[in-house]
Amino acid sequence: MQKTQGYAAHTHTSALAPFSFERRAPLANDVQIEILFCGVCHSDIHQVRNEWGNSTFPMVPGHEIVGKVTKIGSEVTQFKVGDSVGVGCMVDSCGVCSECQDDLEQYCNNAEFTYNSPDKHSGGTTYGGYSKQIVVNQNFVLQVSDKLDLAATAPLLCAGITTYSPLRHWNIGKGDKVGVVGLGGLGHMGIKFAHAFGAHVVLFTTSPSKIDDAKRLGADEVVISKNPEEMAQHTASFDFILNTVAAPHNLDAFTALLKRDGTLCLVGVPDQPHPSPAVGNLIFKRRNIAGSLIGGIKETQEMLDFCAEHNITSDIELIPIQTINEAYERVLKSDVKYRFVIDLASL
Ligand code: NAP
Ligand code: ZN
Repeated sequence: MQKTQGYAAHTHTSALAPFSFERRAPLANDVQIEILFCGVCHSDIHQVRNEWGNSTFPMVPGHEIVGKVTKIGSEVTQFKVGDSVGVGCMVDSCGVCSECQDDLEQYCNNAEFTYNSPDKHSGGTTYGGYSKQIVVNQNFVLQVSDKLDLAATAPLLCAGITTYSPLRHWNIGKGDKVGVVGLGGLGHMGIKFAHAFGAHVVLFTTSPSKIDDAKRLGADEVVISKNPEEMAQHTASFDFILNTVAAPHNLDAFTALLKRDGTLCLVGVPDQPHPSPAVGNLIFKRRNIAGSLIGGIKETQEMLDFCAEHNITSDIELIPIQTINEAYERVLKSDVKYRFVIDLASL
């Protein structure tokens, strides 16, 4: 075991504070990583505040991890000391179920998440990336190209793959009209990917101050979602809408904008249910409401390679870990352009 420094929440109402804990020494298939950067996902806030009702404390959040390999186990073949690598939301899965066989480990019933998840090695709980180092099975470690800025790459490990995966699954490309709801960490990556795939991209935002940024990020049009007249101009015109909003809201306003057979895909996970959707909106045009969870490891690597090839990273605000509690308050006010990333050199 080895001592590691991090930041943890001790209860669902306490601020994050310095915390010292133990990580396992690398086993034969493990990679030990010095964490350089870790993104701040809205899911971290939901879990620190126990908004999903499944939190265990102390909790070291963080699942958008980029760092350097410092040690490898005897059976590690895919990584060497000094490599730039990433770790996302998962650190293990059963490996044998149909989800794992299909490279969709995120849907494995025994997926082990990077933090706030039972840790099969320690018998305790997994601890995430708001810390100096992490030890992860090589099958859950991603290669990161040194062409990319490492700090701005960290959010790709969750915000990136969570938006890339549904856009790929629903075959978004040239000729498609795609909506992205909410311009935050996920939303800004959704715009970048949908634009890179050749779609006509419309951002739905509640924040008029974000219009110029949305266009710079790749949106062809911006709609203020609180304005019913602006919304009505897009009735029954979308192939696909990716909804990243972290709060309950009326989904009917968006299902009404789908074409026949169009899909509203929910990736935001509010603490309370959305008001129930109007059935008429769905049946008269055979519209779909779907959900999507991050992405598998193979697809995450594909996404990182796509980003290296197309020079895509996140727009970030780099912060020292000592300001993490203020950063959470700013995320809750939608006041971040567009992802906070912790510089672990500050710890
Ligand atoms: P974020 O940075 O806070 O962005 C969310 C955006 O939603 C805000 O910037 C805001 O955009 C909009 N918004 C917030 N409150 C709203 C409200 N009451 N009504 C309408 N719009 C509102 O959060 P994030 O990190 O992108 O995460 C978004 C959600 O996705 C969270 O619930 C998170 O837990 C979840 N998530 C899911 C997965 C998955 O695998 N499915 C993975 C990661 C995260 P505007 O200012 O543009 O309106
Ligand atoms: Zn996340």
